[in-house]
Amino acid sequence: QFPFGRRLPCDIYWHGVSFHDNDIFSGQVNKFPGMTEMVRKITLSRAVRTMQDLFPLEYNFYPRSWILPEEFPLFVAEVRMMKDSDPSWKPTFIVKPDGGCQGDGIYLIKDPSDIRLTGSIQSRPAVVQEYICKPLLVDKLKFDIRLYVLLKSLEPLEIYIAKDGLSRFCTEPYQEPTLKNLHQVFMHLTNYSLNIHSGNFIHSDNVNTGSKRTFSSILCRLSSRGADVKKLWSDIISLVIKTIIALTPELKVYYQSDIPAGKPGPTCFQILGFDILLMKNLKPMLLEVNANPSMRIEHEQELSPGVFENVPSPVDEEVKVAVIRDTLRLVDPQKKKRKDVQQHIESCKSKINIRYNYFMCYRCQTLEHVSEANEELLDAGPADRREYGTTRSPEAGLPSLCLKQVFPKYAKQFNYLRLVDRVAALFIRFLGVKGTTKLGPTGFRTFVRNCKLSNSNFSMASVDILYIDITRRWNSMGIDHKESGMCLQAFVEAFFCLAQKKYKSLPLHEQVKSLIDFCEYHLAALDEKRLVCGRG
Ligand code: ADP
Repeated sequence: QFPFGRRLPCDIYWHGVSFHDNDIFSGQVNKFPGMTEMVRKITLSRAVRTMQDLFPLEYNFYPRSWILPEEFPLFVAEVRMMKDSDPSWKPTFIVKPDGGCQGDGIYLIKDPSDIRLTGSIQSRPAVVQEYICKPLLVDKLKFDIRLYVLLKSLEPLEIYIAKDGLSRFCTEPYQEPTLKNLHQVFMHLTNYSLNIHSGNFIHSDNVNTGSKRTFSSILCRLSSRGADVKKLWSDIISLVIKTIIALTPELKVYYQSDIPAGKPGPTCFQILGFDILLMKNLKPMLLEVNANPSMRIEHEQELSPGVFENVPSPVDEEVKVAVIRDTLRLVDPQKKKRKDVQQHIESCKSKINIRYNYFMCYRCQTLEHVSEANEELLDAGPADRREYGTTRSPEAGLPSLCLKQVFPKYAKQFNYLRLVDRVAALFIRFLGVKGTTKLGPTGFRTFVRNCKLSNSNFSMASVDILYIDITRRWNSMGIDHKESGMCLQAFVEAFFCLAQKKYKSLPLHEQVKSLIDFCEYHLAALDEKRLVCGRG
C-alpha cells in the first residue's frame, strides 16, 4: 500500500484483485490483463469448447457444458437425444451463474425443464454442466482439490505447479443425487465458504484430518490403498497445461492491447487456483480456475455468539506461504539480472573465438576474465554481494522450491495442441491500431487477401458476408459491447469455416493446421518481399 502515492518505479507490483494499473512502465505485475474475464465460467467453457472441437479426446477432463440462455434449446435437444439413445441414462446437471463464486446461486437439476428460466436467467447468464455423480470419497465425504499454479510468462509459455495443495471437504456424507437430496449443499458442494456454516465443519491443527487438509495427505492415503499416485499427478499436470493452452490465445489479445509490443511496459506473472474434482476411478476433472485465489492463512472462529477472532490455520499456512515465497523467488529481479548477465557473457563468448581466458565485452567495452565472470555468476552475483556484504547466495538456507516447472519442461508432448495460439497470432497481426481487441472489416479483408485465401470459389463479397454473419452473431451474445468488430473467438470460428472449406475431407484439427501453415507461408513470403523492396 502506498498511502502517499507511488514515487519510484518498483521491481514487483502486487495487485489485490486484477490487472488495473496502466501507469506501470517496467518491472513485473502479479496479474495478467484479461485473466479475470478469461476464467469466468462462460468464457472458460467457450475456450475449452474450442479445444474440445479440435481435440475431443485430449480435452475430456471438462464436464459437458452448455451456455445459458443462448444454448438452452441445444441443451434440451441434446439431453433428449442422449436419453432416447440410452434410456438407462439418468443424469443430473449443475447450474452455475456466470461470474459467481463460493457456490453462490448454484443448484442441481434432474431435467432441463427444471432450470429457473424466470427472467433472471436472461439478466444473469449461466453455465449448465453435467454433474459428476461418482466422485472419489474419503471418509464417505466428497472433496475437491485446490492446486496453485504459477503462470510465470505467456511468451514464452512458462508454467509451474505447486507440489502440494488443499483438499476441501463436504460436511455431510455423500449420496448420489436424487430428487430428495438435490438441495443438500453440504453434501454436494465442497466450497469452504458454504461448509464452514455447517455444524459439522472441523477445524483441525493437523493437516491430515478435518474439513480442510493438504492434498499430499490424501495422496498418502490413496497410495497406501495401492492407488497409482504417479499416474494421478501426471494426469493433473496434463489437465493444467491443457487448460492454460486453452486460455493463452485470448490472453495474448488482452496483453497486446494493454501492453503493446515495442512500448515500455511491465511483464506479468500470476498465481492461479485450479479447482479439480477426482472421480471414483481417480480421473481428475476441472471444475474451475480462479484468477484471484484466496491466500488467507487464518480463519474466523466464533469465540462466543457474535464474537469472532482470526486464528491461524496450519493447513493454509503450510501450502500458501510456500506458494507465495517461491513465486517471489522465481520472479526475483536479482535472479533475472544474473540470468541476463550470464546470457550476455554466453553470447559474447559465442560471438568471438576465445583463445585466451579473456574476452572483450562489446556492450561494456571492457576486457573480462572468463573464469572470474563465471565464478561471479555461480555465486550470488555482484549486485547481491553489495547488498548483503557477503558471498552467500540469497537462496541459501531456503527450503527447496515447492513450485515445479511443467512447461516448457513437457512442451514436446503438448505443443501440437497450440493451434489456436497460432490463429491468435494471425488475428493480432491484422488488428492494426494498437490497443484494440477486435478486428474491423478491412482488417479481415486484408487477412484474406494477404494469405491468398480468396479465389473464384470464394469471392471477396463472400468474405464480407462471412465477416458480417459471424461478427453479428458473436456481438448479439452480449459479451463485450465496448468495441465493435470481430472478437478473437469469432475470428477462430471464421478461420475454422475457411479451413473446412479448403481442406474438406480431413479431421478438423488437420484442416485448421493446414490452413495455418498455408497462411503463415504466404505471410512470410510477403514479409520477405517487403524487406527486399524496402532495401531496394
Ligand atoms: P464457485 O465458483 O461458485 O465455487 P464451482 O464451479 O467451483 O463454482 O462449483 C462449486 C462446487 O460445486 C464445487 O466446488 C464442487 O464441489 C461442485 N461442482 C461444481 N461443478 C461440478 C460438477 N460438474 N460435478 C460435480 N460437482 C460439481
